Amino acid sequence: MQIQEMQSEIMRLKRERGVCVLAHAYQSHDIWEVADYVGDSFGLSQQAAQADAHTVLMCGVRFMAETVKILSPQKRVILANADAGCPMAEQVSFDVLSQLKQKYSDHTVVSYVNTTAKLKTISDVCVTSSAAVKIVKNIANDKILFIPDCNLGSWIQKQVPHKQFQFVPGGCPTHLLITPKNVEQARQRHPGALLLVHPECSEKVVELADYVGSTTQIMDFAKQSQATEFIIGTENSIVQHLQIACPEKRFYALSKNCICHNMKATTLGDVYNCLKGIGGEEIELDAETLQLARRSIDEMLRLG
Ligand code: SF4
Repeated sequence: MQIQEMQSEIMRLKRERGVCVLAHAYQSHDIWEVADYVGDSFGLSQQAAQADAHTVLMCGVRFMAETVKILSPQKRVILANADAGCPMAEQVSFDVLSQLKQKYSDHTVVSYVNTTAKLKTISDVCVTSSAAVKIVKNIANDKILFIPDCNLGSWIQKQVPHKQFQFVPGGCPTHLLITPKNVEQARQRHPGALLLVHPECSEKVVELADYVGSTTQIMDFAKQSQATEFIIGTENSIVQHLQIACPEKRFYALSKNCICHNMKATTLGDVYNCLKGIGGEEIELDAETLQLARRSIDEMLRLG
């Protein structure tokens, strides 16, 4: 079957079966073309909660499908590829976080939304990369225990210097592949281009950027900017998505290594098979997990 033929079948099947397809920003363009919504993980969860469909197919990684389920417990949520996990979401175990909560009992536990549902159940508040600074500023407590991404954490800390942070070693293995040397080389090759990076990149890379933001913020910035050339310091599929959205501008990958193999685990064929009922994994969370994890997300919405 050709790609376009498979995409037509997917469009027919999802209409016939009432399925809402979500594609994270780091999915390939052929999946974007069949999705009902594309974007950052939390934005997708919110879109799914408002959608009429009773089944939601998440093309992304496991914690994203869990977040969809937390926001839409009455819906069937399918992760398109059961092997698509996020190493960062599981870097801190439930037991370690429980112990840290006891050790830093006077701290507010702030978890990046890129964590498992189980970790969310013992977090006080979640943050997205786009709203993290605002949320942390609005937390009444000045003592913050932040998990799991130290790079995102220290980027927030710089903007909220009056608060004390405790970190646990962790971070996104994909964004950590970008080095200051990549910046030096990209600046030499593209001297007129603006450098846009994700705060999951290392502190040294972030310091060299012209703009720092979440994936959606990077895309919006590049689309709205008067500039015409951009070096993109996040997962490399964004380079292609931007080039298609803005053919008159030029986009360059900051590092050819910045590819998330977990995100790339999902293929158009997975989407097709899920819609035929022969693939993916339904996400099941017990009532207590749904309720407790939802609390940390509601707190994020209240503060953000
Ligand atoms: S890019 Fe990083 S945070 Fe995102 S899914 Fe991949 S490993 Fe996880």
